[in-house]
Amino acid sequence: MSLTRLRSLALAAAALTTVGVAAVGATPALAASAASPAPRVISQLSAEHPLWLPKRKPAVITTTTAPQAALLSTTSSQYKFSSLLDGQPVRWNPCTAIHWTSNTARGPVGGLDVLKAGVAKIAAQTGTTWVYDGATATVPSTSYLPKTPTTNRPVLLGWADGATSDLLAGKPAGVLGMTRTVWFGTDDGQGTRIAATRAATVALDRTDRLPLRGAVSWSATVLHELGHVMGLDHPSDSRQLMASTLPANVTDLQAGDRAGLTRVGRSAGCVNVPGA
Ligand SMILES: [Zn+2]
Repeated sequence: MSLTRLRSLALAAAALTTVGVAAVGATPALAASAASPAPRVISQLSAEHPLWLPKRKPAVITTTTAPQAALLSTTSSQYKFSSLLDGQPVRWNPCTAIHWTSNTARGPVGGLDVLKAGVAKIAAQTGTTWVYDGATATVPSTSYLPKTPTTNRPVLLGWADGATSDLLAGKPAGVLGMTRTVWFGTDDGQGTRIAATRAATVALDRTDRLPLRGAVSWSATVLHELGHVMGLDHPSDSRQLMASTLPANVTDLQAGDRAGLTRVGRSAGCVNVPGA
């Protein structure tokens, strides 16, 4: 398609993302030409999903992993996808490298090591390749996310606070972190819609005093937020690391978390968006 047309489509998509409205299923605003309809750009900015600090004291551990594993084939209470397109989870193209950058200037000593370990774990679980582009001074916020599919930015992971990031502004003290993602895709007007996550940013609240590792730690928080980056939402099962309140006894990805991550990973196949 022409550059002019591409630009107008991108602007239409940007208008949709700024208000956080799902473009999926929306009435096509642009009439396709009769001869050869050009693919319409579709996009969606993710909703906000705060991660909460547990309020109660850790309970006695009574869970076992075997029943959870048995439930996986029949229920999705243990994992949930942030965004579905035609019944399929929207995910990164796992066949291309995901670049990332960090801002640990306001984070704890050792914060970068925690980020790198979290990225390595998510990469291994999903079969994706992550490339570290180095540090940045950019603060994680919604405005960091690209508004057009032609803009590429590395996933930004970093510590911020309510004064510097809209992702944390006005949030209660019990919120540990926030992730936002954006996906872009195309709708050919013939019933084929293909989209892929194209960018994400994670804001960790520097005002929370968490240990680097263990239960209710930065490590657990980072894994949770990276789960959002990959396309997971909060499941109803409160024992999963992806639960909306960080489980008090959990230090690592659980069976449901792993199952969900596998479904958005390399083993689910490549996601090739036309023109991307
Ligand atoms: Zn969350």
